Amino acid sequence: MIFLDSAATTPVRREVLETMWPYLTGDFGNPSSHHELGESAKRALDGARKSVASVIGCRASDVVFTSGGTESDNLAIKGVALAEPGGRHIITSAIEHEAVLESVDFLKRIHGFEVTVLPVDGSGLIDIEDLRGALRPNTTLCTIMYANNEVGVVQPIAAFAELCRQYSVPMHTDAVQAAGWLPLDFAELGVDALSLSGHKLGAPKGVGVLIVKGRRYLEPVIHGGGQERGKRSGTENVAGAVGFAHALALAESDRRDRAERTARLRDDFVTDVLARVPEAILTGPALASGAGAGLAGAVGALGAALAGADTAVDTNAAGETGATPVAANAASSPQRLPNNASFCFPGTSGESLLLELGRAGIICSAGSACAVGSDEASHVLLAIGIDSAVAQTAVRFSLSGETTAEELSTVASEIETAYRAVRALSS
Ligand code: PLP
Repeated sequence: MIFLDSAATTPVRREVLETMWPYLTGDFGNPSSHHELGESAKRALDGARKSVASVIGCRASDVVFTSGGTESDNLAIKGVALAEPGGRHIITSAIEHEAVLESVDFLKRIHGFEVTVLPVDGSGLIDIEDLRGALRPNTTLCTIMYANNEVGVVQPIAAFAELCRQYSVPMHTDAVQAAGWLPLDFAELGVDALSLSGHKLGAPKGVGVLIVKGRRYLEPVIHGGGQERGKRSGTENVAGAVGFAHALALAESDRRDRAERTARLRDDFVTDVLARVPEAILTGPALASGAGAGLAGAVGALGAALAGADTAVDTNAAGETGATPVAANAASSPQRLPNNASFCFPGTSGESLLLELGRAGIICSAGSACAVGSDEASHVLLAIGIDSAVAQTAVRFSLSGETTAEELSTVASEIETAYRAVRALSS
């Protein structure tokens, strides 16, 4: 099996499981209990909190353990919005994860908040001038993701946070996909709240954190015994917290080298795929080398036509795109997650390609794994200007730090075979 779906989830690292084991077995206390077992659990939880804080560069008291990325996003958005009686307006973007979009929608539907959804360009980037134009005196919160789970676009979060600070608007970022690949320094990012999820990092599913700056009051989403300084009730997942902290520290310890190595492998993979399947479109930002951008741009219109689309892609003679799905600007490369390679294969269906690749032992994803059972075109691909017919042909490959060049070469060759098989069937 070749696993290229790390953006969906990762296996628990052995070292992580080992740090968790004692808190699942002999040392199984409840951190709220006033006896030796409880105090031992509390020490483990406090240790995990300090460890997370030292990686993120925040205070231990800023760390709130949650059940994962979805809960962290819910808590940040509802918690800040409902704690600020004066504010009535929320800013977000068109390419957020459902955990953010649905939380914002809840505030709109049930609590009457006004919402501004910022558009993105053809590579998925938000224009800071659009954010400036959206900020209002009654803006309660701005929530914009650090890195996108489908097309891998990385936003200039520090610049957005700086602008929000000038307007005294708190800023939250969903950093679930950025963790382990991009710097997470809380002060440098300058945000007020940041969400992370364990299972993208080698910790188990069902644990995450929300980092919340200073003493900001959050209206709790889960009410009960007042754990996590009242921000998140419920007996703490001690083993999960310990595992999360260890996984985060491990991921950070070799992040830079791993990210550079993986980006190089990814670049070669994209180049290989586009050479083998010239009709393919690389979605999201272009690569450092510029590879893929010109090629994909030049064939984009052809691809859209093959899919029977009304033409999703505008290309000029140089193969560059305007406000189109394919980014043609090689300088935008740092704006792509090192492990993301996402394509559309016009004239096919993403699901059929996935089946063919699955038969060859390759695990990847048709768009995002997070929208359960949805066969609607991805809102992210639509937002970057991809035609909905072409959006149905999306396949995302997300590498891990362990992915090898040999594996990627096999996958590129299998993509070509799968593409030809699916095209032959559909023609
Ligand atoms: N935010 C982003 C960007 C994600 O990619 C995901 C999951 O894929 C989540 C939030 C949700 O995280 P969790 O699965 O821990 O609830």
